[in-house]
Amino acid sequence: MSADPSSLADSLPDGMVVTDADILAGYRQDRAADPTAGTPLALVRPTTTEQVQNTVRWCAANGVPIITRGAGTSLSGGSTAVDGAIMLSTEKMRDIAVDPATRTAVVQPGLFNAEVKAAASAHGLWYPPDPSSFEICSIGGNVATNAGGLCCVKYGVTTDYVLGLEVVLADGRAVRVGGKQLKDSAGLPLTKLFVGSEGLLGIITEVTLRLLPPQGPASTVVGVFGSVHEASRAVLAVTAEIRPAMLEFMDSVAINAVEDLMRMGLDREAGALLVAQSDAPGAAGAAEVEFIQKAFESNGAGEVFATDDPTEGEAFTAARRAAIPAVEKLGSLLLEDVGVPLPSLPALIDGVAEIAAGNRVMISVIAHAGDGNTHPLIVFDPADPDEAEHAQVAFGQIMDLAIELGGTITGEHGVGRLKKGWLPDQVGSDVMELTARIKQALDPDGLLNPGVLL
Ligand SMILES: Cc1cc2nc3c(=O)[nH]c(=O)nc-3n(C[C@H](O)[C@H](O)[C@H](O)COP(=O)(O)OP(=O)(O)OC[C@H]3O[C@@H](n4cnc5c(N)ncnc54)[C@H](O)[C@@H]3O)c2cc1C
Repeated sequence: MSADPSSLADSLPDGMVVTDADILAGYRQDRAADPTAGTPLALVRPTTTEQVQNTVRWCAANGVPIITRGAGTSLSGGSTAVDGAIMLSTEKMRDIAVDPATRTAVVQPGLFNAEVKAAASAHGLWYPPDPSSFEICSIGGNVATNAGGLCCVKYGVTTDYVLGLEVVLADGRAVRVGGKQLKDSAGLPLTKLFVGSEGLLGIITEVTLRLLPPQGPASTVVGVFGSVHEASRAVLAVTAEIRPAMLEFMDSVAINAVEDLMRMGLDREAGALLVAQSDAPGAAGAAEVEFIQKAFESNGAGEVFATDDPTEGEAFTAARRAAIPAVEKLGSLLLEDVGVPLPSLPALIDGVAEIAAGNRVMISVIAHAGDGNTHPLIVFDPADPDEAEHAQVAFGQIMDLAIELGGTITGEHGVGRLKKGWLPDQVGSDVMELTARIKQALDPDGLLNPGVLL
């Protein structure tokens, strides 16, 4: 018999535990839209750490699993519901305190990434990590997936900005690791252990973030290429010499899908588009822009143009950010996140084209190319069983290819539920066993986000 959530409601403020089936339905799936998502027992939307602790203690006492959910934009099924679980949504945990003296922000997990950026900016500071979903994803979700983004090629990913955490453990205790200090060698680096832990090891209830002085003005260089191969060679030419502030890639399917959505005059005949930025100041910035232009031209770009106008630059960045929602309009998506060491980027992109042809499915490739992190988007019609099966086969083959090239099955989205079958192939049995032992030590009853990663 399942536990009665009314006894949980007794330990929390009125209305915090929701069992209304219509509301629960909206929390079953994340953006990966797993059709096999379960039905949760109840939804809990706490505002304080203590309320999270009460919820976790009740779950521990009743053997009820907990799925922690930020904003539900996971593309790997990380925040998908399982039957009989508590969905713990952090959406109402939204406090932030920016401390200009230490250049830090102490943030509750439910605040959106864009809201953290805005609060930092109000104090003349900058929080760099910028997933394309920055306006719709939570900082807790970013920490739990170690999210990346567009400027990460120069400024690093989420883990590079997490100085400290408060985490509610599976037994309900709240621990603090790290803090506002910029350096800290005391004890094991547990802050790093929780970053990217996908809700498996604890519930992050507060994050201390490192902030930077504001980014300088950026110049944008756009290159239009005849083929994805040329564009991927151009990426290597750029990254071999300089570290741009952004280096993004879209293939022809993505260009056309974005053009359908935004009507901004992108070249529909192009095989690929690269959008690069330099934010180096003065003469160094001018030299970087010139270098990028030449690298694009010498690798076959038919058209290259540069602009210092921030509005024009933002239009191209926005086009790249819109690529996933735009391609989503073409059909159902199986969304990849594979990454390789940079010299293997052309081999990965060429290999994805071969996998698409071999399986007769459409695969659009977009990429945080400067990081070697690609998002092959497999488009299929779920009503066509043959096509759906080929899409699944392609999904696996792309991960196999990334592993073969010395890369990773996920550069930034996390393993979630969708990719766990391939994790042992990447990391090996000893690392899988070590991972299971860490999970067992922190969550012996396996109640935190069951079904993810392991
Ligand atoms: C259009 C689009 C573009 C995207 N672009 C990018 C991109 O450029 N870079 C990138 O990295 N990602 C990208 N993503 C993926 C997604 O936005 C990120 O993975 C994001 O970090 C998830 O945040 P969320 O708040 O939606 O988390 P959720 O989807 O709610 O959860 C994600 C995972 O984190 C866990 N989790 C969430 N909050 C907590 C917490 N407080 N404590 C413990 N565990 C927690 C969940 O259990 C789950 O495993 C994109 C998604 C979309 C839809």
